[in-house]
Amino acid sequence: MNITVLAGGIGAARFLAGLCDVVPPESITAICNVGDDLKWHGLHVSPDIDSVIYTLAGIEGEHGWGVRGDTHATLEGLRSLGLDEWFTIGDRDLATHLLRTEHLNEGTTLSEATAAVAVARGLRLRILPVTDDPHPTVVRTAEGDLAFQDYFVRRRAAVPVLGFMFPGAAQVRPAAGVIEAIRYADVLVMAPSNPFVSIGPLLEVPGVRDALATSSARRVAVSPIIGGAAVKGPAAEMMAALGHEVSALGVARLYAGLVDLFVLDAIDEALLPDVRALGMDAVAFDTMMTGDAGRARVARAVIEAAS
Ligand code: GDP
Repeated sequence: MNITVLAGGIGAARFLAGLCDVVPPESITAICNVGDDLKWHGLHVSPDIDSVIYTLAGIEGEHGWGVRGDTHATLEGLRSLGLDEWFTIGDRDLATHLLRTEHLNEGTTLSEATAAVAVARGLRLRILPVTDDPHPTVVRTAEGDLAFQDYFVRRRAAVPVLGFMFPGAAQVRPAAGVIEAIRYADVLVMAPSNPFVSIGPLLEVPGVRDALATSSARRVAVSPIIGGAAVKGPAAEMMAALGHEVSALGVARLYAGLVDLFVLDAIDEALLPDVRALGMDAVAFDTMMTGDAGRARVARAVIEAAS
């Protein structure tokens, strides 16, 4: 059975870690968001891909990004030179960005550079950036249009959001293997990721929506909203700001027509009839991915529900 996962960062990383425990990792393709990518002192940083890789390698930082127990000597060194460093890159994390950028400078694609990093970490699933081309997410706010990390890290996601733009979307091409992985999967999972800035940018890549629409896969989405709140991150605030109901039902409405089965948390069970009324199957179970056992439990339950 081939399983393709549309992935953002932390929520997706946890789900993929569980999935790797319950199916052969070689049968999994993760298609990752690159809308949050940034240049840091000339290095290419892919925060979502790195969250996935660090989590799968079991070395993720306590907040779900960076490397656990990392030191920050380089960052402190840059600050001592008078630089205004608002993006945190740890010393071991830096090694990833050096390796990735070295590959890119030698002329490889982001897909190849990602594979090199993943293999170096001993991972056996396939991790594909949705595109090898620049595909930034721009956040429209009352303070103007902001690059994603400018909004998310520098301003701590505290600026009201008016919308999102994907200025590169018309020109980007899906990375090699992306369309096939969506179209020919047996099960396709939209991970519990932010619908606007993780899954949204994937759907903007030309060909991805069509591949989803014509996919032979059983298409499943897992709600990142539990009990009217996000487990982590600004998804709930974004939904509210954009006029969507902040609930699993609100997420299901965003995915209507794109998925066959919607998974919501047991505490939102009462929403099942309304989700089904959107024209999709729906199931409810505990989707909180706490610890290795919780991740594996959720992944197994999703695959069983899909099969
Ligand atoms: P980010 O780019 O690192 O913020 O990562 P994602 O977009 O992949 O993940 C963020 C989303 O994952 C948030 O909306 C969270 O609510 C959701 N999430 C995180 N952990 C869990 C979990 O254990 N269960 C569920 N259902 N959602 C989760």
